[in-house]
Amino acid sequence: MADEETTGYEPETSAILAGRNEGETSLAPVLYPTSAFEFATIDQGREMATAVGAERFYSRYGNPTINAFEAAIAELEGAEVARAFASGMGAVSAVVLGLCSSGDHVVAQRQIYAGTQLFLQSACPRFGIDVTFVDGTEPGAFEAAIRPGKTMLVCAETPANPKLDLVDLEEIGAITQATTVVDSTFATPLGQNPLAHGVDLVLHSATKGIAGHNDATIGVVAGSEDLLSWLWGFAVLHGANASPYDAFNAHRGLRTLGVRLAHQSATARRLAEFLEGHDSVDLVRYPGLESHPQHGLAARQMRSFGGLLTFDLRGDIEAGCRFTEAVRLARQAPSLGGPETLISHPASTTHVGLTPEEMVSTGIGPGTMRVSCGLEYPDDVVADIEQALVAASG
Ligand SMILES: *Cc1c(COP(=O)(O)O)cnc(C)c1O
Repeated sequence: MADEETTGYEPETSAILAGRNEGETSLAPVLYPTSAFEFATIDQGREMATAVGAERFYSRYGNPTINAFEAAIAELEGAEVARAFASGMGAVSAVVLGLCSSGDHVVAQRQIYAGTQLFLQSACPRFGIDVTFVDGTEPGAFEAAIRPGKTMLVCAETPANPKLDLVDLEEIGAITQATTVVDSTFATPLGQNPLAHGVDLVLHSATKGIAGHNDATIGVVAGSEDLLSWLWGFAVLHGANASPYDAFNAHRGLRTLGVRLAHQSATARRLAEFLEGHDSVDLVRYPGLESHPQHGLAARQMRSFGGLLTFDLRGDIEAGCRFTEAVRLARQAPSLGGPETLISHPASTTHVGLTPEEMVSTGIGPGTMRVSCGLEYPDDVVADIEQALVAASG
């Protein structure tokens, strides 16, 4: 579905052009809220009912608004096709349950989005799917955990929530004994392209940077036509299909992703440099900083280091809570990649259900703070964080 005219440009430009239907004169993506489509003839109905990815049959199967967004993502990820889901977790659960059966094995990294971790850890065993968690930063760890003939799926996430550790995409791409999937949400399709490194599937919570305005809940998976056709067959029964409204908003968001990501990355770098020299801060994690233990890898596999950074406040969990309550411009919310700078204190929110040992193994301390830089004027964001640091240490 990719238009010829969008090739040969930098990705920021392609993001503006991608997913336009030929012959469509509307400049904006077109919203088709319909749940079903009429057929002109019996033959057409039969054809639609049996076509993989049918665009005009029933919206759980496909819908022009959703398919246009999917085509745009496929193009930006260098994939043959993409499939949108009701949420990032809809995409994660469809990939795992669509590709794995009872008795199969999955290798996943330990530091991973909390929803994915809980799904792999608590839902998968109920279906007889065994999961091994590995340290994704340790060279060879994924490969070493593979059980030949049993491991169906290798799941990685990079940069990983919440400590922004990276996984070497070349290493995941070199795995041939299982299907490999990378959650690339934190990077966005403009920040890195896992398929270019040989990875089989790339997945995004488009709820975040892609839609980018906190007004859509949607996920997307891109890869080969073979794999995606199989997943589509499961997805229409699984039922976690994207809403056309959300696909419309996500496609709208994609058009400004280039400028948003550039602004957010620049703010994140400034804030990271400011925090690195601050007395109340123990550790700053930003892939763009020389001090990030995997900065070399980041520079090799990322086009943009992104708008997220993590730091450890000196002190106990109370200091983290005081800081969270002291920010004025930044908001407390569990999302990322939107216009507002958001902060999250995993120890008291997203990761509160983890045991102390699990906290340590995911790298979260009592004062760990995650910041998703927004679109505000950068000095305003830095000044807000600075005054909150003073309040937290008092
Ligand atoms: C938010 C997120 C998800 C889940 O996406 P939803 O749209 O909230 O279901 C998965 N992976 C990562 C890295 C995320 O940030």
